[in-house]
Amino acid sequence: MSNWSFWEKSRYLDGIQDLIVGGGLVGMSTAYHLKLLFPQRRVVVIDRDPFSAGASTKNAGFACFGSPSELLSDLKHSSEGEVLALVERRFKGLNYLREILGDDQIGYVPCGGTELFREEDGFLEKNCVEKLDYLNSLLETSIGKEVYQLSNDHLFFSGKKKFVASIKNKLEGSIDTGRMVKAFKEKCMSIGVEFFNGINITSVNKNGSSVLVDDTEILAERIFICVNAFAKNLIPDLEVRPARNQVVVTNKLLRPIPLGTYHLDEGYIYFRSIDDRILIGGFRNTAMEEESTQVFGLTDLIQNKISSFITNYITDEEIKIYYRWSGILGLGDVKKPIVTKINDRLFIGVRMGGMGVAIGSLVGKELSELAR
Ligand SMILES: Cc1cc2nc3c(=O)[nH]c(=O)nc-3n(C[C@H](O)[C@H](O)[C@H](O)COP(=O)(O)OP(=O)(O)OC[C@H]3O[C@@H](n4cnc5c(N)ncnc54)[C@H](O)[C@@H]3O)c2cc1C
Repeated sequence: MSNWSFWEKSRYLDGIQDLIVGGGLVGMSTAYHLKLLFPQRRVVVIDRDPFSAGASTKNAGFACFGSPSELLSDLKHSSEGEVLALVERRFKGLNYLREILGDDQIGYVPCGGTELFREEDGFLEKNCVEKLDYLNSLLETSIGKEVYQLSNDHLFFSGKKKFVASIKNKLEGSIDTGRMVKAFKEKCMSIGVEFFNGINITSVNKNGSSVLVDDTEILAERIFICVNAFAKNLIPDLEVRPARNQVVVTNKLLRPIPLGTYHLDEGYIYFRSIDDRILIGGFRNTAMEEESTQVFGLTDLIQNKISSFITNYITDEEIKIYYRWSGILGLGDVKKPIVTKINDRLFIGVRMGGMGVAIGSLVGKELSELAR
């Protein structure tokens, strides 16, 4: 039983009209767009964590929309039309995020995105290079001319082993994740959205009239579930599974790597520059079972893989790890978010996959429009 006072209950929790559960990018965007659509309604975002803890505050800040190897892998089980629609949505979503918040506010850098290949990625590299023209013509009408180009970016790195090739996408970039989340929250608050952090919703009434915090009920006229990877805890029949990603930031380098977002192995390994440091994460594919969890945490296996990759491939400088954390992705069998209206009072926007920075703001807008 919660210990909320009469004052807390009556002044904060009573009279909520639109209640958003989950204060990540999708929750904030949903709240923002609901408030724009219905300025008179009381819109409240509840999150269980002080900052919001899932993916939006934990991610790597790649403003990306798909690497050649990832698109070719997607094309094995989805049609050209489906893959193109996904890429277009990410591209539009990134532009929309930049438009709402402004490049300065989110620390956007148009540094491009580079897919790197190691010797052991031989087949992948051959396939990507051979299919570059095909991918470029597929994306030409909706994204732009020659999205992917062969590049020399791989020559910069000075680890013990060498990257052998790289493909650059000049239309990608990076953001400062922390600044983006802060800016979005401030934008929401500036139009009257309220945020209550530190409240863990334990269940949702399926007709959308209330949520429970243990056995204390919070009533709302409409409820929007935006908890991404944690969706099954509240709505068990949703097809969403969690996937943990571990991330590391190194000490400052004497010779920083060039500004850029770098990824390989179909996006399972990624790194970038931030404040003269290296931010690197991923390797989930080397421990799929262990990393299919919604529990935050670090493992020796993946931390060691990250450290060896830095010295093997990225730099010959001596590296110290400055900071480590993990975040949780929400995945499904298909790379498509769930954006749906269950009934007039219950709405769901979850399963953002690995490129939620790109689609999150757009998904929130779409979810709010379902409530029109
Ligand atoms: C390590 C990592 C790196 C990534 N890198 C990138 C990248 O570079 N580029 C990119 O485009 N995407 C990236 N992503 C994916 C992207 O961050 C996500 O897809 C996106 O942030 C999802 O936003 P969301 O709002 O749906 O979910 P989240 O940000 O996970 O928000 C869900 C919120 O719900 C809250 N919550 C959960 N359960 C409850 C409950 N019961 N009660 C109350 N609150 C609850 C959580 O605290 C959380 O704040 C990365 C993800 C991770 C984990």
